[in-house]
Amino acid sequence: MEEDPNGRFLEPVELEKCVICKGGIEPHRNKEGKIIWTHGHHAFPVAEGQCCDDCHNTYVLPKRYGDSKARFKEILVSPDALVIDSDTL
Ligand SMILES: [Zn+2]
Repeated sequence: MEEDPNGRFLEPVELEKCVICKGGIEPHRNKEGKIIWTHGHHAFPVAEGQCCDDCHNTYVLPKRYGDSKARFKEILVSPDALVIDSDTL
């Protein structure tokens, strides 16, 4: 069983997939380590569906707020991931 940095045991969980990077969406937990949310973030306007914390911060928020075009170009997405055309941002 997995242990969190504070030495508490974490319940195993089936991760939802991020629609942007196709990675698992890390569940949000409360202070006791109990899962309180597993659906990540709404990926709009980058994609349809739910995305992980990283993609939310890296793609979705900048797109929503219309800044940091440059940051998008630094991101490597896996070959089967949604292709994000930085020129349309
Ligand atoms: Zn992601």
